[in-house]
Amino acid sequence: MSASQAAFALLMKPLNLGFTELKNRVIMGSMHTGLEESWNGFNKLAKFYEERAEGGVALIVTGGISPTLSGRLSPFASQLSSFFQLARHRKLIKAVHRHEAKICLQILHAGRYAYHPFAVAPSAIRSPISPFSPRALSCKQIKKIIKAYANTASLAKRAGYDGIEVMGSEGYLINQFVCRNTNQRQDEWGGTFENRIKFSLEIIREIRRVVGENFIIIYRLSMLDLHKDGSSWPEIVLHAREVEKAGATMINTGIGWHEVRIPTIAATVPEAGFTWVTNKLKQAVTVPLITSNRINSPETAERCLQDGDADLVSMARPFLADSQFVKKALNNQAHLINKCIACNQGCLDRVFKGERATCLVNPRAAYEDEYPLVKADHAKTIIIVGLGVAGLSCAYYAAKRGHRVIAYDAENLGGQFNLAAEIPGKEVYFDTIRYFEAQLLLLDVEVHKKHKVGIEELRDVFADAIIFATGVTPRMPDIQGIEHFSVMDYETAIKNKSTLKNKVAIIGAGGIGFDVAEMLMTTNENSNDWYKKWNIDTTYQQRGAVLDDPGVSDHDSEPGREVYLLQRKDEKLGKNLARTTGWIRRLSLRRAGVKMMSNVSYKKIDDSGLHIMSEGKEVILAVDHVVICAGQKSEDGLYKQLAALEQVVHIIGGAKKAAELDAETAIREGMELAYRL
Ligand code: NAP
Ligand code: SF4
Repeated sequence: MSASQAAFALLMKPLNLGFTELKNRVIMGSMHTGLEESWNGFNKLAKFYEERAEGGVALIVTGGISPTLSGRLSPFASQLSSFFQLARHRKLIKAVHRHEAKICLQILHAGRYAYHPFAVAPSAIRSPISPFSPRALSCKQIKKIIKAYANTASLAKRAGYDGIEVMGSEGYLINQFVCRNTNQRQDEWGGTFENRIKFSLEIIREIRRVVGENFIIIYRLSMLDLHKDGSSWPEIVLHAREVEKAGATMINTGIGWHEVRIPTIAATVPEAGFTWVTNKLKQAVTVPLITSNRINSPETAERCLQDGDADLVSMARPFLADSQFVKKALNNQAHLINKCIACNQGCLDRVFKGERATCLVNPRAAYEDEYPLVKADHAKTIIIVGLGVAGLSCAYYAAKRGHRVIAYDAENLGGQFNLAAEIPGKEVYFDTIRYFEAQLLLLDVEVHKKHKVGIEELRDVFADAIIFATGVTPRMPDIQGIEHFSVMDYETAIKNKSTLKNKVAIIGAGGIGFDVAEMLMTTNENSNDWYKKWNIDTTYQQRGAVLDDPGVSDHDSEPGREVYLLQRKDEKLGKNLARTTGWIRRLSLRRAGVKMMSNVSYKKIDDSGLHIMSEGKEVILAVDHVVICAGQKSEDGLYKQLAALEQVVHIIGGAKKAAELDAETAIREGMELAYRL
């Protein structure tokens, strides 16, 4: 046994399921990439899955595929209900099987989450996150849907899938049957809990009947609904036992409903913050249990298994971030894993915008077809100036493609990402910098830190291309008194956070203004504080394991700070923050007592504080500090000088366009340029 196998002894241990064996305990959880519906998407998806299968994962669960038209998430979302649709699925299966990994098709019926007018549900009750009111299903229609699930499973078997996963959690159709708020039927499918779980059990029984014994059926059980009409703990246990009896091979852990305002996968969630609930179920069933949510390293995954939380670990986003996750763990290279930073920016936020999912720290994810790992035709000499994330990414991909790369940074590596990593909850961002640094070392990139290059050094240098990734500097607005000693830019504030006094006004409420406010308001919270903050009942005495509706009560005590977050626009603060995390950030700051003001104008800053106009009145905010978070300007001076001298130069990242630049764009631009060189 190698050192790493010993270190991840349980994670790498095969699991015998009787009729088949999984080569280790790592499952790549279901993720919708958007390729499922796009032109030529299944060919690209096959490449995406193949790279993960080659990377050592034991079992891949596909994105959710509907068994019926009504169950599609959106009008053109994927459905599998006909023999004619099997050819494209076979491409995925073949790609995965080539590497001795297994693949299960996830069957997902959206129910009232369907974003189209044909939505159906147990009762005609609209979800708060959809504009479409569902039709209540008749008994005949319910039976038809059960048959449709079985038909999809049977087709999956015929295509060559190793099994299926029935999506029974996150608030989708099956979950809507289970919970009393969404199921107000009076017939055999509603009323008592036994009636409400009949739908899920009939689906499993019918699937087992048509697929026979030697086929994996995973049931994703909502173990924590996280709303007050959710299942109670005794009901969860009963449901799990019945699911096992009905014929499930394994039970996966589902946490929360999409409509519930409690974070379940965002960076704020403690690492492996929900595995305790899988552990709690362990004694009640005999089938293997899979745990999930906020597990992003082999160390954490192994610890979950060592602690007896589950038999297997499912990770989804970590496989976007690094396809070689398992192989690296197995080969004693866990330190070289590109860690998922739980930002959602490259994956979920893009999917919600109707774009293809990828990953902020790995822009090749789901783009393997467009950016194959092959050497460039001609090796070139490339100079990169600036090693923030855009420069790091460009250096990495250029070197990977066989180019000789020489890179400079006036400071250490990482640029603005170092500032982000100082924000509480974002410490994992340092791992991204460490990842790229380690990769540059492996690829023999010549890295010069703390080396500020000037025009003299570059003017006559030999290089096939010089790339400027010189980043940004904070923009200082033109406000009277901006030079007052109480004023500082966000960079200074973040670097000196421990010295800041209590009363702070923040000018600018973009991503960085929110970051600074969070930094000022966050107390040292442990996981128990976090559960308390979001009203999660870890003793599971309450239905859905919530104590109250989050956001109604205010558990956060002011840590003695008085913080004002200001913007000129007359709109809700944080309106343009990312869809999947913006609400968490707004709610957290509101609960922490940050005073958020929009439609203000800045008059002056003097010894008495910041003078603003708000609602037609002049107000003086008597603060100790005014922190400027009013965007950035590009650092492009050297690029412009050199471009004028007719060297072959390129510019990427914030140096190219400071306005609304984010790390995802910067890293992607770095890769794209490296492939064009
Ligand atoms: P930003 O999003 O452009 O926000 C700048 C803020 O400054 C705005 O609220 C703007 O609002 C205000 N502002 C602009 N010019 C001003 C002026 N002359 N005087 C006073 N106020 C002014 O920029 P950022 O917050 O610096 O963020 C930079 C990029 O990083 C963005 O793309 C952001 O999405 C990204 N980022 C993302 C995260 C994340 O967690 N996802 C975190 C940090 C940063 P008003 O004009 O209405 O006052
Ligand atoms: Fe993780 Fe962010 Fe990549 Fe999504 S985009 S996989 S959350 S690092």
